[in-house]
Amino acid sequence: TEEILRNTEKLVFAGQIAVGIAHEIRNPLTTVKGMLQLSGKNTCLRHYDLIMSELDRMNLIVSEFLILGKPQAVQFRQERCMPVMQEVLHLFEIQAALNNITLSCTTDADHLIRCDRNQIKQVFMNILKNAVEALPLGGSVHILLDTEGTYQRIRISDNGVGMTDEVLQRIGEPFHTTKAEGNGLGMMIVKRIIEAHKGRLLITSKMNEGTTVYIYLPIR
Ligand code: ADP
Ligand code: MG
Repeated sequence: TEEILRNTEKLVFAGQIAVGIAHEIRNPLTTVKGMLQLSGKNTCLRHYDLIMSELDRMNLIVSEFLILGKPQAVQFRQERCMPVMQEVLHLFEIQAALNNITLSCTTDADHLIRCDRNQIKQVFMNILKNAVEALPLGGSVHILLDTEGTYQRIRISDNGVGMTDEVLQRIGEPFHTTKAEGNGLGMMIVKRIIEAHKGRLLITSKMNEGTTVYIYLPIR
């Protein structure tokens, strides 16, 4: 019965997610259709930028979910985090420079862990994206890789806007966002991926001081 309950929970969760995605995609879809209708067949170039950005939004929502919906593509291997983190940092370099954000990374330990590289990359990307978005006036993001007991620890801290206790408590709840352009899916995906790796996630935050995210992944 426990198994049945767990499966029911999963189905309910999948249903909620499906409804949420449908909702998230319907808004930009309506905008794009409206723009095309308004401008007619020949003049749609006028709304090109808006149409593209709305299509990007839909694309992002869908691609954030592909990683969860494709269990057959998941491959657990022995990997180290540092090279994955460096790839992700590379992706954020330009955006950081444009926004006066300093990115830095210290490696005290980089253990072999059993993980799916793409999923871990997704975790780092979602957290880094939040850190950068928390620094609208610039600032710094520092990453530390070290050991905590039998875990590889990855600490990501920013000196950005921080969170209220209410937001901190609801973090990881699907579609809960404080951002005009947010979808509230990033941290839910992070949580689920870390759970699947038998790891742990800890977040501390203070308004106007910053946020620190700790990820613990078991060392082989
Ligand atoms: P989104 O980024 O689309 O809003 P997330 O699940 O990534 O969704 O984050 C949920 C919410 O948690 C954000 O809207 C924001 O309020 C808060 N949050 C997450 N990371 C940070 C951070 N580093 N600094 C401040 N707030 C954050
Ligand atoms: Mg986010």
